[in-house]
Amino acid sequence: MTDLNDIPLRPDLRGQLPYGAPQINVPVALNVNENTFGIPEVVAVEIIQRLAAEVIGLNRYPDREFMQLRGKLADYLGFGLIPEQLWAANGSNEILMQAFQAFGGPASSAISFGPTYSMYPNIARISLTPYREYEREANFELSADYVAQRIRDSKPGIVLLCSPNNPTGTPISLEVIEAAYQAFDGILIVDEAYAEFSEEESALSLLSGRPRLMISRTMSKAFAFAGARVGYVAADASAIDALRIVRLPYHLSSLTQAAALAALSFSELLLENVAQIKGQRDRIVRQVTGMGLRAYRSDSNFVLVEGFKDPNGVFERLLERGVLIRNVGIPNTLRFTAGTESETTKLLAELALVLD
Ligand SMILES: *Cc1c(COP(=O)(O)O)cnc(C)c1O
Repeated sequence: MTDLNDIPLRPDLRGQLPYGAPQINVPVALNVNENTFGIPEVVAVEIIQRLAAEVIGLNRYPDREFMQLRGKLADYLGFGLIPEQLWAANGSNEILMQAFQAFGGPASSAISFGPTYSMYPNIARISLTPYREYEREANFELSADYVAQRIRDSKPGIVLLCSPNNPTGTPISLEVIEAAYQAFDGILIVDEAYAEFSEEESALSLLSGRPRLMISRTMSKAFAFAGARVGYVAADASAIDALRIVRLPYHLSSLTQAAALAALSFSELLLENVAQIKGQRDRIVRQVTGMGLRAYRSDSNFVLVEGFKDPNGVFERLLERGVLIRNVGIPNTLRFTAGTESETTKLLAELALVLD
């Protein structure tokens, strides 16, 4: 059998494995921070109608600039954004990859503050960008002075700030983001994948006059649209033009564009469950605290919980009981996504049994 060692793989990729959380079919899947509420029927019907209209024209390449979708994304975000300040791709992971292709590379470098999103080092590696992760401060929080000092020390080409942060749930204040921007002359990417769940003001309010600031968003989480693969970014039009240079032609299919437009036309309805999910998140915090565990501050749709002597054992026993959660590798912790009320009830009941 030929294996990876027998073919001329890039030396820096040898020994690497494809990234991804386990995909296991279970009744209660709370491991990748999806919105577990399904797509409402009226939205599904609208999506199907728009897809049907596109199918007949699939012999042609899609609209490469997708100005209609960029306009609707600008309308959704507000802040006076114009279509030229928006860009979309197949998930915000692709947005981040394009940003690294445009602004990173071997002559540049990137930093972030960990524990944070585990795709950052991956995207850096694939794009040949040197990457370093500084530790977060106590309780995984970040202060303006600390962040600015680390940036001044390392003078990176790219700084990644995830707010609220995955996997800890910690939001980052605008004061920290402003200080980070001022501390260097590279590109500051604020990853707001979970912004719709957060009480913190969005970094979108800082965009005006800051051409090196990029704010990435996704429809995968709050919008319940993970399967459609739609991420997007808001920035100065010049930064968007940089992404247009590195994007592969026609990267966003006509079907994806149509589905995203349909979903955006129902954004209020799709976001209706956000309040309910936040309620379940707060319920997880209260109940695990009552079990003698510790929940970190979360402004997102998941909670990082500490106090497990054997996180992997708890993970396995929950899985046996049909509940899939995430062991993110932070000692003594597990991460729980807030689902529907009944999923959360099941999670908490099984957790109590497992801990007993
Ligand atoms: C889920 C997630 C994303 C993106 O996911 P896509 O599905 O690729 O849009 C980006 N950043 C963070 C921090 C996430 O947790």
